[in-house]
Amino acid sequence: MKNATHKTAVVTGASRGIGAAVARRLATGGFNIVVNYAGSADAAKSVVQDIAAAGGSAIAVQADVSDAAAVRQMFKTAEAEFGGVDVLINNAGIMKLALIADSDDALFDSIVAVNLKGAFNTVREAANRLRDGGTIVNFSTSVVGLNLETYGIYAGIKAAIETMTSILAKELRGRSITVNAVAPGPTATDLFLDGKSQEAVDRMAKTSPLERLGTPEDIANVVAFLAGPHAR
Ligand code: NDP
Repeated sequence: MKNATHKTAVVTGASRGIGAAVARRLATGGFNIVVNYAGSADAAKSVVQDIAAAGGSAIAVQADVSDAAAVRQMFKTAEAEFGGVDVLINNAGIMKLALIADSDDALFDSIVAVNLKGAFNTVREAANRLRDGGTIVNFSTSVVGLNLETYGIYAGIKAAIETMTSILAKELRGRSITVNAVAPGPTATDLFLDGKSQEAVDRMAKTSPLERLGTPEDIANVVAFLAGPHAR
């Protein structure tokens, strides 16, 4: 068992994008990290290697978050390796955009499976297993406020996540566990960039007062604050 005296964070979808940045950032803060991934084993391994090279402690654990049994096994693996789990960063997600009128059942079901059932599977496990004093951070999106066309299914589910976040915070009363959601704006990852023209990317970047896309590190710093001692 490695670093059993350190706190441990499970970061879902940590092989790439925002999750990988969160994993690296929390590791620098002394957390043992579970680098969860679905398909990108090599990318997850390289995040683990980066953390180890910087003096941290991490393991990669494959689990499709839409599979409740796999999520349960991931938490068991984390507990066996590190002695317990303190933090869940519920970051794994996919984005598929379409007008509601054009969305078929398969599109709807695929987004619900990962972004809603996956988030539910992981927060349910965390609610039952996190040590007292822990933290859960869920992921919403700025589109919940912007209400952009073609984001109907994706942002509708993220709105549900925000509501679930507030209710879970109340349900965990008495255990000193905080539950929050972050709602990034356009952030330079595959999820945002894939399938967009440079013109569309530039236009969306300009909507921010900083006139640039967010970076995964921007979001990771906010998550690190929420997971740390100053965000109680
Ligand atoms: P990326 O596409 O860059 O990375 C997604 C990550 O999620 C990958 O590590 C991927 O792992 C993992 N993942 C996907 N499906 C599953 C699954 N079924 N089980 C486990 N892991 C899975 O996305 P981002 O980093 O951009 O997004 C992270 C979060 O931030 C998402 O919840 C997204 O909705 C939210 N967000 C992103 C914004 C943006 O502009 N980028 C804006 C607002 C919110 P693998 O490669 O192994 O499949």
